[in-house]
Amino acid sequence: MHNCVLEYLLNTVYIYREMSYNKPNYHKIPFSSVLLLAAAADAFSRPNLPFTKSAFIPTGIATATPPTTTSLTAAPNRLEENVEGVVYVNEKCINCAACNNFAPSVFGRADRARAHIVYHQPETKEEILDARAAMAACPVAAIRSETLAQRRHRMSSENDKQVAEDSWTNQDEYLVQQMALSPKVNGLELPFPRPLLYHAATTPSKSLKTHLSNLYNIGYHNEMSFGATPYLLEATVQGKLAWIMVDTPKFGKSAKDAVTRLTGPKGPDYLLLTHVDDTAGHEKWAEEFPSLKRIFHLGDGGRFNWLGDTSLETDVEILLPPPKRESPLLPTQDESSAPFHAYAMDGTPLPNDWHQTFPDDPDNDVVILHTPGHSPGSITLYKKPSAEEPGVIFTGDHYAFSTKSSRMSGFPRYGNNLQVQANSLKGLLRLDWDVVAPGHGHPRNYSLESDKEALKRKEMQEAIEDLSN
Ligand code: SF4
Repeated sequence: MHNCVLEYLLNTVYIYREMSYNKPNYHKIPFSSVLLLAAAADAFSRPNLPFTKSAFIPTGIATATPPTTTSLTAAPNRLEENVEGVVYVNEKCINCAACNNFAPSVFGRADRARAHIVYHQPETKEEILDARAAMAACPVAAIRSETLAQRRHRMSSENDKQVAEDSWTNQDEYLVQQMALSPKVNGLELPFPRPLLYHAATTPSKSLKTHLSNLYNIGYHNEMSFGATPYLLEATVQGKLAWIMVDTPKFGKSAKDAVTRLTGPKGPDYLLLTHVDDTAGHEKWAEEFPSLKRIFHLGDGGRFNWLGDTSLETDVEILLPPPKRESPLLPTQDESSAPFHAYAMDGTPLPNDWHQTFPDDPDNDVVILHTPGHSPGSITLYKKPSAEEPGVIFTGDHYAFSTKSSRMSGFPRYGNNLQVQANSLKGLLRLDWDVVAPGHGHPRNYSLESDKEALKRKEMQEAIEDLSN
């Protein structure tokens, strides 16, 4: 009875929150409230647990690194939509799509379950490594591997248990061992950091041929940012090499190790927060790395700071001012004017002709663009192309890949001002880039496509039309 009421309440709150996301006229419901209610429902649904504070920690959410085996008594249920086999997704899935990003041949969306599931068990070495990366990236530890003992336990009749035992293969045993995240179990390297585009070109068969130097997925996605993708890149800033983290991984030892394996113990120089939704845990990263400079746009302050995290507006080292009211969104089709308000990495607003000087500036590889629409303070990091490598845009939720529609999207359901966002997207087409590193879904690499400009324009146009309808 309790459980029914709580689940009803949870669903209602969740739906309301989805409706209200970034809409200024709705009262904002922090994602943490949804998680708390989810935890309450979870606790009530497991009567064997004592009713203590720890019972309110949702199963799986508390662990930074998912265990390779699960408790037989308290394990969340395996979603029945999974294909039978060792690797599976359980009912804790929040449908963030991070798994599909790393292992698209293994994990896919199951709309009926409102979750992602395993639709193909990993077989090749490459698929296993991809699935293992997805397991480490999953923000709620919903991806598990099942041992023979666990499979027997899942079966209700003695006959089914016997069938499970008889059908268990050496490949199953191998898969359990290979999926373990600890290198001590299988000798495999930790899955992160992982070069961006390892398996993610627009044309999958071409993807293995390319990845960019010093540009990485960090993994360990944060459930409080709805599984948004964190990145780490090295770029020249004011004449010196600097490490820039884009959005926050879930703070913990695994993520910290993934970061410092690249940056050394000092950590990154900058943490660019693309928008208010993807800022969870920023203060912990700042505490861990005292020289870290966080960057946040004040357009997401005040009533648009739906998290209620005022430290974003007071403690962040580099606060980008919103453009003055008398300086509206710059025209995007006039080639003589800049497509965006832009800022240097130290937060200095750049003059309106920045787009003419930046391509030849030897001291700076990156610039921050104000790309409002999804939220008033959304920003995009633009890394210009070099002689060897294509330009990259780190777009947060401004322009990302939706596994629901299987194409690029501006997520119109969640936008703050869709007209402004459509205008911002058009501006991006005026810059020289071939790779999109989005906050959700697959990166896009157009550099290997024969008619890349046409494909970029077509995918962007589809996203703009979604925003306009
Ligand atoms: S990564 Fe996201 S979509 Fe995939 S299983 Fe985990 S929570 Fe679900």
